[in-house]
Amino acid sequence: MRKAMSFAGGLLLVASALRGAPGAANQPAAETAPPAVSTASATPVLEVPADQSRQKAYSHGRYALYFVNVFWGMLVLYLLLTTGLSARLRELAAGVSHRNSIVVFLYTLAFVLFTSVVSFPLDFYGGYIREKRYGFAHQTPLGWMGDWAKALAVGIVFGGIFAVVVYAVIRKFPRGYWLGASAAAILFVVFTMAVFPVFIAPLFNKFKPLQPGPLKQRLLEMAHAQRIPAREVFEVDASRQSGHTNAYVAGFLGTQRIVLYDTILKTDTPGEIFAVMGHEMGHYVLNHLWKGIALISLSILFGAWLIKTLFAPLAARHPEWGFREVSDPAGLPLILLILSVYQFVLTPADSGFSRAFEHQADAFSLEVTRDPDSLASAFRKFNTVDLSELDPPPWIEFWLYSHPSLRHRVEFCEQWKREHSGS
Ligand SMILES: [Zn+2]
Repeated sequence: MRKAMSFAGGLLLVASALRGAPGAANQPAAETAPPAVSTASATPVLEVPADQSRQKAYSHGRYALYFVNVFWGMLVLYLLLTTGLSARLRELAAGVSHRNSIVVFLYTLAFVLFTSVVSFPLDFYGGYIREKRYGFAHQTPLGWMGDWAKALAVGIVFGGIFAVVVYAVIRKFPRGYWLGASAAAILFVVFTMAVFPVFIAPLFNKFKPLQPGPLKQRLLEMAHAQRIPAREVFEVDASRQSGHTNAYVAGFLGTQRIVLYDTILKTDTPGEIFAVMGHEMGHYVLNHLWKGIALISLSILFGAWLIKTLFAPLAARHPEWGFREVSDPAGLPLILLILSVYQFVLTPADSGFSRAFEHQADAFSLEVTRDPDSLASAFRKFNTVDLSELDPPPWIEFWLYSHPSLRHRVEFCEQWKREHSGS
């Protein structure tokens, strides 16, 4: 289950689709890095290398990059307003056509291109240079940029269509637009989650059925025992981009897919893979997708209400920004700036809900596999292979961690083992 499915992550998803950055490369502690490690021997011992300096350096750099990215994004939006550039982009778009929907689409196109280009150095540093330094990135710089450009194109198409719909709703319902726009945003999130595994992910990677064998058979048996409608287990060539490991059950409304990274097939034993997939299936069976959508919907509604409340007074106070009405696409940076601040303040709540879901999925995995040693040793590999930190600073775990820290997850495995020993 990916970070984008969590609470306010929905807003982030909408905003990042607009910015043409569907990749979560900049988000620390995303699903790609579910930390946790140990082994559940009779005496609980955290069997991780004593020297954790690489893990610390890698993780701490990601936290710092997260904050730099957040504030850089806000600064770019603010500068688009104060320099009058946003109003000028809208004038250029209005010079091409008098049709509102075309003006909105052209404005959004220019906006996404501009914000993506000024964020490129940070994206490239965090998503490629740093990943290469730690041995994760497998692509050439050009290959990485090709994926970046593809993500930008997807962002322009999705963001452009979404913006045209939302601005049409705003023009049609000048008073109650925030409710209509929220409905459109929620539908957009649901639509994106449904099409992601089947139509978007294959743009970046090849998916092929896992080769037949005991591993595949047991995974399908596990899925069917949990009533997950899966006929196939997919292997994705994630090693094309990176050495990071992951697995997920994504999609719904007929697009459900069980996916294993080819990297995890190389690094993890079958027992560890069953434990990880037990966790992923837990998300599915425990309806975390629908619960996540419910939370995202609440978050979107409140964000839209904030825009309704703050947009007009702020625009009236700054005539130099060159727009007054929320229906004017030149105000898009102000809308996104309000949402960015809101999203940032909401991050600890978002992470907290996510950690609760992740903990439930860990517990589910143990109930299904009854193999705490394998789950703990899978967590251990997130420390040794993915360089996830064992003990993040508590405020970082509180603010950013979508998963409980590695130590907390391992301790849970050990506790579960103690409580079920002899049974
Ligand atoms: Zn998870």
